[in-house]
Order: sequence, then structure tokens, then C-alpha cells
Amino acid sequence: MRLKTFAVSLAVLAAGTAPLAAKTAPLAAYPLAEAQVLDLSKQLIALRTVRGAGNQTGAALELVKAALVAGGWRADQVEITPVDDTAYFIATWPGSDPKLKPLVISGHMDVVEADPEDWTRDPFTPIVENGYLFGRGSSDMKFDAAMAASSLIELRRQGYRPKRTIILQFSGDEETTMKTSRIVAERLKHAEMVINIDGGGGTLEEGTGKPLYWTWQGAEKTYNDYLLEVTNPGGHSSAPRPDNAIVQLATALERIGSYRFAPELSPLTKAYFEQAAQFETDPQLAGAMRAFAANPGDAAALATLRANQAYVGKVGTTCVATMVGGGHAQNALPQRATANVNCRIFPGHSREEIRAELERVAAMPGLKISDATGDESVASPASPMRTDFVSAVTKALGKARPGTPIFPSQASGATDSMWYRALGVDSYGASATFSKDSDDYAHGLNERVALSNIKPGLVYYLSLLTDLSK
Ligand SMILES: [Zn+2]
Repeated sequence: MRLKTFAVSLAVLAAGTAPLAAKTAPLAAYPLAEAQVLDLSKQLIALRTVRGAGNQTGAALELVKAALVAGGWRADQVEITPVDDTAYFIATWPGSDPKLKPLVISGHMDVVEADPEDWTRDPFTPIVENGYLFGRGSSDMKFDAAMAASSLIELRRQGYRPKRTIILQFSGDEETTMKTSRIVAERLKHAEMVINIDGGGGTLEEGTGKPLYWTWQGAEKTYNDYLLEVTNPGGHSSAPRPDNAIVQLATALERIGSYRFAPELSPLTKAYFEQAAQFETDPQLAGAMRAFAANPGDAAALATLRANQAYVGKVGTTCVATMVGGGHAQNALPQRATANVNCRIFPGHSREEIRAELERVAAMPGLKISDATGDESVASPASPMRTDFVSAVTKALGKARPGTPIFPSQASGATDSMWYRALGVDSYGASATFSKDSDDYAHGLNERVALSNIKPGLVYYLSLLTDLSK
């Protein structure tokens, strides 16, 4: 998953306010790695790594394995494990100091389904056009996968020897069931840190294509569904009873609908609001972001942020009714009424805690609220703003995209990071890829990535991976 951090309002930043990098030295060139990124990306896009019959995730992982083995990895250091119709991948580059816990680079090789009929270009035929690489998985996230693999191979080509073991890992069902995501995190829970190349990333200014800002993702809200259910004995509608399942459910939903969870501010969202405010073009919103960062109890600021769809999810837990059903005949008292309430839980709260809160808010005798989320989601804490990570990405981006503002973000959707964080491993979304908001087609039609990302991306990864493993 790759979710843009910002609202559309941030995309229309007035020209001229972007921090312009002064005269900068040309980026270092890595011709072999640059060629490999494009070549490998195209080969990966051509394979239909979609859940179900004909899933080619295993074949795609074999391509990455072949590239690593040609680059110096021993075949037995690159493991591909089939699971159902997919597979996961763990490649190990042993460090010279076995006492150090490994650095994990995390991604996924599966993609969201794409129907060729809907696309202008065939989704599984990689096409380079006008400086973009088109194809399903180009932005989410086969290009990033190729960048990470090619960067590691380049480091090895240069004779680099990591002190800390570096593990490159791909799950095979991040977009669907996350079964392999969970397995991989469990296997690698001894990691020192995870760099998730499927999260975070940079935004380019629409007009000029210059970097506007880059964010790293340090936390995710927890996705959770709750089933609300009221059952009554029922009977003939000509003889109403005092209780009515539909009315009881409707009353409970009305209470939940008008309820607001407590405002919350974490060190990470505080930094986000403080720094993102400078890119918000609406002065009232920008003021509210600064005021909320200073005092989450500021009622006016909170009301302004809650009224905006881009920010309502960043100030606390939200729960909303998404489905409803009930009754079985037009002339019968309802025996059963149900609803689904979908919550996005602010990091730091358990699923059960929110369930109990909904129960209190509904205050409806006879209403049963149960957790209806499967094992495809898990509550996860925010990762701390670690100085080793922050200084390494700051340095790496300073070399690759000098002058670009950097700040943390909290995602409202989920990535493989949640499985690591739930196990106590710090995980950071830190993709090197920049895109314009108007080019953000992840999960959608005509997905694309700008090839201008290759050169700075390699500079970024070579710096970051060296710093975190030396
Ligand atoms: Zn993804």
C-alpha cells in the first residue's frame, strides 16, 4: 500500500514557495545499477503477481533472487518460501559483526488486480513513455523493489562490507490477506530496525516537478470492524412490543455517530502538524494545525481539523457506521438488526478498548458489540522518532534531493510495518520515490512511476543502507 500523506489542498501549492536547492553538485552516477533498476522493474511488472489462479509472485521473486545471486549472494542466502498461491522472500547479506541485530528492508511483490479492459495500456506490459514507467505495480511497489535490490548489488559491487547483517524481505500478499506478511515479521522479529520501502516517500510540485517535501511513516492507525447486533423475540407487527431491534440499533448508531473520540497527539503527529502546516495553503487550516500541535485541547483548532477530511483521521480514533441490515418481513416485528461500524484506531489503543468504549457510548441494553475483524489486522504502536533513523534519512535525502523538507507522518491505512510494530520492532516507511499527486495511481488505472527517481533514489539508498549497517 502506498498512501499519500496529504490532502489535495497541499498539492496546489503556489509556485515559488518550494524551497529551491541552491546550486547543487551533480549526483553520483551508477550506470550499472541505473540500468538494472529499469530492467528489473520491467521484468517484475510483466509478471502477474495477483492473488488467485496463475499468481506469478514466486516467479517474480525468482527474478530478484537471480539478480542477487549474480551480484554475489550465495543461493542458500536467498530463500523463497511458497505459501498457498503466493510466496515470500528473505535474502540475507551477513554482516561482519554477528552480535548486531539485522537491518531489514521490507517490501512486497504482490499487486492489486488490474483489468486490462479498463486500462489505456496493458497493465502487465511495462511501457516507458514520456519519462514514466507504466504498469501495474510500477508505483506500488515493483520499482521500489528493484531500487532496493539494485542498491544492495551496487554496494556489493563497490566492495562494501556491512558490519550489521542486511536482510531484504518481500511478502507475497500485502495487498490482500497479509498471511505471508505476518509470517515474515514473526521470523524477523529479532531485527534492529525495519526500513519499509512501501511507505513514506516524496511529493513533487505539480508545475515544476521539483521536490516539495518528503515524509517518513512511523505509525499507522489500526483498521477494525465491529458487528453491532440486537435480537428480539419478534412477533406480529399489529402487536408491537416495548422493544424493537431496529429502533434499538438505530438509537445506538445515532449515539455512536455523534460521539467524538478524545483528541490525541503523539510526538510523531505533533511533528507532522508543525511541519506540514507550512505546506497548507488554507491559512485557517494551517493555523489550526499549529494550534492543535501546541495544544490538542484547543477546541476551535480541533473543530477545524475534524471538519476537514484530510485531517479528521489524524487527530484521534474515528468510528463510522458502514453497513446496516435488519428485519425479515414487512409485517413482522424485527427479530434481528445488525450494523457494521468501521474504526480507524489511533496507535496506542487495543481493539478491545475501543469495543468497550463503543458499548459505553451506545448505552443500549440488549445490544451486542463484537470484534468482526479477522486476523488481517493487528493493533500496532507508533515507532519512536529514533535519532539513528532520522539522521540517516536526513543525510541520505540531503545527498539525493538537497534542501527537501523532511517530516514524519502517520498513515490511516496499513502496511507490513504493523506486523513488525506489533512485535515490538521499530519500522519506518521510507521509500525513495517522489511523485506528483496527479501521478498517484497506486491501486488505480494506468499506474506509473517517474524514471527521474532512479538516480536520486540510488544515491539515497546507498547512503541510507550504508549508514544503518556500517
Ligand atoms: Zn504497497
